Amino acid sequence: MSDVQYLRGLLEEHPDFPKKGIVFLDIFPILRNPVAFETLITHFVHHLTSYTIPKSSSKKVDAIVGLDARGFLLGPIIALRLGAAFVPVRKKGKLPGQCVSATYEKEYGEDVFEMQAEGIKPGQTVVVVDDLMATGGSAKAAGELVAKQGGKTLEYLFIIELTFLKGAQKLDAPVYSIIQSD
Ligand code: IMP
Repeated sequence: MSDVQYLRGLLEEHPDFPKKGIVFLDIFPILRNPVAFETLITHFVHHLTSYTIPKSSSKKVDAIVGLDARGFLLGPIIALRLGAAFVPVRKKGKLPGQCVSATYEKEYGEDVFEMQAEGIKPGQTVVVVDDLMATGGSAKAAGELVAKQGGKTLEYLFIIELTFLKGAQKLDAPVYSIIQSD
């Protein structure tokens, strides 16, 4: 069985969560299983070291940017394996010190993401990580924060991509997802 089939088989669907009409895909069964979690992280690191990094002109990733909140569970581990920095993107008002901010569309209204101004330095290369991409609105805001700091996003990484929402079209760099759901 391939990594992709194995990980896909562990996802759990929760109809009508967090509200009626939404089918929520839960990644936590993967994290509960150490073999599956290792498979997931190794898959991402292998992808980055075998494809993304060799293809980029910089030949390195300086920082992994993880999105609030499940990106925080994946990003630091990937960053450590690559010897890169981990930089969180959080909802407004949670990070101390000087921050840059970007607005993104939610289902109802807007929300604001922030990153510490120290997080990314001009010229640094970045990979953005989250568990799932739906509309791509939150990933796009994270990419804007990287760009505001003068960084370059090499790629956006997700466990799951809801491909029918075409979020990848909003982004300034390629998307890599392990599981596509249409
Ligand atoms: P987007 O900004 O529309 O792409 O939404 C992506 C964000 O919503 C990510 O931070 C996801 O964690 C969260 N999200 C949306 N749907 C799901 C789901 O079915 N499972 C887990 N996270 C979800």
